[in-house]
Amino acid sequence: MKFIKNLLIITVFLLLISGCSFPTATTSGSTATKMQQKPIVESNLKIENGKLNIIFLDVSQGASQLLVGPTGKTMLIDGGDNDKEELMLEYLRSYGVEKIDILIATHPDADHIGGLDAVVSNVDVGKIYMPKVTKNTKTFESLLTAIKEKGLKITTAKAGVKLDWEPGIEIDMLAPVKDKYEDTNNYSVVLKLKYKDRSALLTGDAEFISENDMMDSGKDLSADLLMVSHHGSAGSTSSKFLKAVQPEFAVIQVGENNYGHPTSKTLQRLKDQDVHIYRNDLNGTVFASTDGQKWSVSVEK
Ligand SMILES: [Zn+2]
Repeated sequence: MKFIKNLLIITVFLLLISGCSFPTATTSGSTATKMQQKPIVESNLKIENGKLNIIFLDVSQGASQLLVGPTGKTMLIDGGDNDKEELMLEYLRSYGVEKIDILIATHPDADHIGGLDAVVSNVDVGKIYMPKVTKNTKTFESLLTAIKEKGLKITTAKAGVKLDWEPGIEIDMLAPVKDKYEDTNNYSVVLKLKYKDRSALLTGDAEFISENDMMDSGKDLSADLLMVSHHGSAGSTSSKFLKAVQPEFAVIQVGENNYGHPTSKTLQRLKDQDVHIYRNDLNGTVFASTDGQKWSVSVEK
């Protein structure tokens, strides 16, 4: 069996410097077969200085990633659904985050921006990025109101924007590539982060159309860590896109839902390319951190 299905309380593995197939290791002593030679190194649920920490917060059905950089700068990408406002504030408190240096609302859907109004109202926020698309919902309006009441401005998120966040970390916005899309999901902000030799791609709910636009743009999409777009929906994460990204491991932000997320099609496409998968619905919060050479990942369950 290539991957270990039942992760124990803490499963940690390393992605060694380039060229290694993705290893998994477990404290269970179970059938790790050929992966057994890979070292179990550390448990890593704490934010570590000197590392790029990407925390895929368990917000049930929805998405939210909290990033803490090597010198402690913070970034919040999305904030779960409307009923997650308290949870978001609780997460920030529990990780000791008092200021969000960069806040990104990937697109105006409720399962991504629902909890952000509470964050904006209650936490010190630096710069806010949002794509140029609106939605006629109370959720979207209350986010705009919270931003306005705080006296903050929105900077347009689009392909080509570079984020100035932490020294030594390159952050490129790869999407939205075009100004107009039919589906709100395709306006999703897609970010590529690069810290020394390691990289991550965070995708919001971008679908095939946006994936194709990113591929056509000629940008380097390769990344070790892929956040699987749109909760593992069948209309995202094409085989072609996966070949362009070539991830070693992936995180699906998903909870109980009626949409069939994550779909067997998407899971199969990931399996076909030997991508190790973590899921919020199965693993709780997924915590990935890198010193720029290797990744370590811990899961809540
Ligand atoms: Zn979504």
